[in-house]
Amino acid sequence: MNTAHAVSTAAGLAGLEGLDSKQLLEKYRESLMGVFGTPQRVLVRGKGCTVWDADGKEYLDLLGGIAVNALGHADEFLTGIVADQLSTLGHVSNFFTSPAQIALAERLLELAGAPAGSKVFFANSGTEANEAAFKLARRNSSPTRTKIIALEGAFHGRTMGALALTAKQAYREPFEPMPGGVIHLPFGDEDALRAAVDETVAAVVLEPIQGEVGVRPLPEGFLLAAREATTAAGALLILDEVQSGVGRTGNWFAFQGNVAGGERILPDAITLAKGLGSGLPVGALLTFGAETSNLLTAGQHGTTFGGNPVATAAGLATLHAIESRGLLAHVSALGERLREQLAGIDHVVEVRGEGLLIGFDLDCDMAAAAVEAALDAGFIINSPGPRTLRLAPPLILTAEQAARFTAALPDILTTAAARTAATSKDAS
Ligand SMILES: *Cc1c(COP(=O)(O)O)cnc(C)c1O
Repeated sequence: MNTAHAVSTAAGLAGLEGLDSKQLLEKYRESLMGVFGTPQRVLVRGKGCTVWDADGKEYLDLLGGIAVNALGHADEFLTGIVADQLSTLGHVSNFFTSPAQIALAERLLELAGAPAGSKVFFANSGTEANEAAFKLARRNSSPTRTKIIALEGAFHGRTMGALALTAKQAYREPFEPMPGGVIHLPFGDEDALRAAVDETVAAVVLEPIQGEVGVRPLPEGFLLAAREATTAAGALLILDEVQSGVGRTGNWFAFQGNVAGGERILPDAITLAKGLGSGLPVGALLTFGAETSNLLTAGQHGTTFGGNPVATAAGLATLHAIESRGLLAHVSALGERLREQLAGIDHVVEVRGEGLLIGFDLDCDMAAAAVEAALDAGFIINSPGPRTLRLAPPLILTAEQAARFTAALPDILTTAAARTAATSKDAS
């Protein structure tokens, strides 16, 4: 294949073939809304953990579309299942169901260790899964039980309900007023949580590992405290596993892993999306036990696309591949090794995370320059904060590929430090 000018088969329909990155980005700015700024690169093709841009440059993808491409790019098993499903039955609406939808619901409940009476609602994204969770929480309300508790640093999505749960002021302020009742408590403060959770609280919503703030796991004991406090107060414990779920941490769901401190904790609900479809849009709300699962009744929530046969077939293929390829054990072992290696690199001051959801802090505000230097060196990484870098690669990343990155990182960070120093000198 001519990688330099193979924009994509679909782009050929619009006559965009043969354009280079610069030309395509000009067209992007003319026709795409500016909410994302200008994208870093135009990507045209991928295979496994490798992607290529419109100029033919190759990258090792250590971000996986932000923890989405669990099976990497163009996985033959996934594309085979999805193509089969699409050429058999693509969409039916929720007036009807299909075997793929039922099978994915059953499989998710099984993997989550869900008790009898547990249920699944399918959505198309993380924010929609959290909207469903928000409405679930509202159904646990009464005139005196009105509050929903979330944490500082939380990210739960961009639609209005999920945004009300999200802590970041810059995301919220332009769209106020927010749906009411949400209170943000200091991150990881167990005493504040125990003091706040009483009979006026409908739900506590937590990420087991906060992703967007730079991969920050809940401190030991916090999840257990949240479970105890919510149970005592009759509030729901809802875990947002949109980023941390579906094998990302080396467990099927993060609540089954380190964050529970060896305890077997079952939340009342979890939300999933990102990695679930390995690139196809699919989200889910899982509710545990009959009581919670019956809070939303016929007609109280819905979606046209949610749970469609193609998206749920992609979910089934993802779960099947994670299991049959032994990826959970692989993710645990490789993640641990990668964190150890990162901790020994110059400029790296703290490494966090579990499995292949990894955040690390640098010794100065140079994360944006590091992302750019990494791209130049052929690696895709991400900076959730001014001095924080994040890795969320495909779960199929090999030890050799990880080692290639850690070998290149010292030079990347040296370059980033030099560029950052030069820019701040220019500015002063
Ligand atoms: C990405 C993310 C969301 C939002 O998911 P979208 O699919 O972008 O709507 C919600 N919660 C968490 C923890 C996330 O990481």
